Amino acid sequence: MRLILILFLTTGIMACQQQSDTAADTSSPLVVTNTGAAGPKLYIFDCGRMRLVSVEAFNLKETDTDVRELSAPCYVVDHPKGQLLWDAGLPSEFAQTDGPVTREDGMTNWLEETLASQVARMDLGFDMGSLEYVAFSHIHWDHVGASNDVTSGTWLVQQGDYDAAHADGNLSVPAVQPHLLVSIKERPTQVLNGDYDVFGDGTVQLIAAEGHTPGHQVLLVDLAETGPVVLSGDLYHFQFSRANRVVPLFNVDAERTLQSMDKIEALVTMTGADFWLQHDASLFDSQQKAPRFYQ
Ligand SMILES: [Zn+2]
Repeated sequence: MRLILILFLTTGIMACQQQSDTAADTSSPLVVTNTGAAGPKLYIFDCGRMRLVSVEAFNLKETDTDVRELSAPCYVVDHPKGQLLWDAGLPSEFAQTDGPVTREDGMTNWLEETLASQVARMDLGFDMGSLEYVAFSHIHWDHVGASNDVTSGTWLVQQGDYDAAHADGNLSVPAVQPHLLVSIKERPTQVLNGDYDVFGDGTVQLIAAEGHTPGHQVLLVDLAETGPVVLSGDLYHFQFSRANRVVPLFNVDAERTLQSMDKIEALVTMTGADFWLQHDASLFDSQQKAPRFYQ
C-alpha cells in the first residue's frame, strides 16, 4: 500500500552557508505520493552504548524510570539519489579500547566497531567516501562520534547548530566536543533554517525541532513497506520523558523544546509515523540491523 504523505510543515528553507537571508515561506501544504519501487532503504548500525549513573540531568527522579542504558545508533538512508548518513554515534576512538570508556561523571561507554569499519565490512554499495549527505540530529558528542571518518557528502545542518559548532569554545551548548567536529566543518555545507526535503520527493525530510540544542532536528523517512518513521534524535531520551513531556536540564531552551515536542507529536499523529526513540536500547535491540534494512 502506498502512502500519501501530507506535509503540514513548511518545506525547508535552505540557505547556503554564505547566505544570511532566508527565502519566503511556502504556506500551502505539499502533497507527496511515494511511487514505490525505487523508494529508500533504511539501515541501522550499532554505534555504541552508554550506561548512566543517574537520570538527574534529564530532569527525572531516579524512580521515574529504571532505564540506565542508552543505545547510540547510526542510520543510513539509501535513496536512489544517494545516501544520507543520519547521526554518527559515540566517538570512533572508543572502539580502540578493550573495555568500556568511563567518563568523569561515571557514565560508561562502549563502542564495539566503528561505523566506517562496519560499512566497509558489509559491502553495502556505499561507504564513508561515497555519501551524498551527512546530517546529525544535533552536535552533541554522542551523535557525531564518527564524523571525522566521513570523507564525502554535504553537511546538512540547522543554523543554530552551525553557529554553535563554529563558536569559540562552544560555551553556550553543553556536551559539544569540538575535536569531533573538525572534519565535518571542512565539508561542503548547507545551512538550513527550518524543515528540508533532502531528495526533493518527500521521502526523506529533516524536521527542525530546536531546544535540546539550538539546531536540533529529527528525521522523517517515508518507507514503502514499513511506512513513515520518525528518527527522534534527542527530542526525548526515555519513554517516560515522552509520556510526561519532560525537558532535560541541559537543554539550551526549555520552552522551545516543548514547542518542538508539540510539533513533532502533531507530525507523528498526522502521518501515523512510527516513532523511533533513538536512545531507547530496548527498541534498538528489537530492530533489525545492517546489513538488513527497512524499506
Ligand atoms: Zn544523545
